[in-house]
Amino acid sequence: MLVSVVIPVYNECEVLPALLSALRRALANVYDYEIIFVDDGSTDGTSDVLRHSVNEDQRLKAIFFSRNFGHQAAITAGLDFASGDAVAVMDADLQDPPELLPEMLALLDQGYDVVSAQRLTREGDGVLKRYTAKLFYWIIRKMVDERIQNEVGDFRVFSHRAVTALRNFREQHRFMRGMVAWLGLREIILPYHRTARIAGETKYSLWKMLRFAWTAITSFSALPLRLSVFFGFFISLCGLGYGIYSIFMAKVLKATVPGWTSLVCLNVIFSGVTLLAIGLVGEYVAHIYEEAKGRPLYVVSDSANLRHVRPDLAKAVILSAAPGQSETEYEPAEKKAPRA
Ligand code: UDP
Ligand code: MG
Repeated sequence: MLVSVVIPVYNECEVLPALLSALRRALANVYDYEIIFVDDGSTDGTSDVLRHSVNEDQRLKAIFFSRNFGHQAAITAGLDFASGDAVAVMDADLQDPPELLPEMLALLDQGYDVVSAQRLTREGDGVLKRYTAKLFYWIIRKMVDERIQNEVGDFRVFSHRAVTALRNFREQHRFMRGMVAWLGLREIILPYHRTARIAGETKYSLWKMLRFAWTAITSFSALPLRLSVFFGFFISLCGLGYGIYSIFMAKVLKATVPGWTSLVCLNVIFSGVTLLAIGLVGEYVAHIYEEAKGRPLYVVSDSANLRHVRPDLAKAVILSAAPGQSETEYEPAEKKAPRA
């Protein structure tokens, strides 16, 4: 059985040597394997370290993006190029322990399509990250899909057919966990203790995490739009009640008051709510706009040790040719009409 390990890397040159030796230790003598590094536009020398390592070992492969396309796009490219019977996805910083891979692969052998590692503890994550993560999973499970497992990130092993299925998702705003849940394939959870990253810093700032959470919600759920309708309805009801009350005050009790404060308050509240609702609609229109453009999900400017090209790859630009292949052999990927 060939095992592909997909690793998105963004400015991780400090962790790569330790990662490689840990992976080799975990996989050696057990499986035939390939490790696909997806360099997500690193600027710190990661690319050089990768090129050097890849030169020395044919089982290591590298895909270099032309710029930073993001963690989820990097995972997508790795899955697109993986040729294994089983495909593992894990972070580069050793927070996802390679020692867990044999156990995950053994579970896959029992007939599951997805083996997901669940974080029991989060060593090294600050209080803020732990609580925001808790809130994130709670909201996502409530708003997006109950099948999204608590504390399960992108550390997973997929069967070949699960990867084939995942390759069909070509949307711009990507949330892998939602896609996996949406597929509904047989999944098993394997709990583990998540350690701190061995070197370097997290690439997910608070702002980036918020953006990720927003993408997760809006790309899989129309609930925010429905909520705005609900709030609009609720406030309209209140407005109607207040209108009746005002007419009663003016016509029956003849107790009209200047009412400046209440008018200002109502005006401010209604304008706020209206703008919020329009903003939400705008957010979804923006998503439609971006999908309508049908742009590629990533641009591969170079690759190393990759001989395997998938001609049916949609929405990907691959500018590098593997040895023995001309660049035109990659063309179907660019020319194929985007799948909706
Ligand atoms: N990563 C990436 N592109 C990005 C951000 C992160 O490829 O724009 C990679 C990063 O190199 C790491 C993984 O995604 O391998 C997870 O990132 P990180 O460890 O910083 O996230 P955290 O574990 O702190 O949530
Ligand atoms: Mg990490």
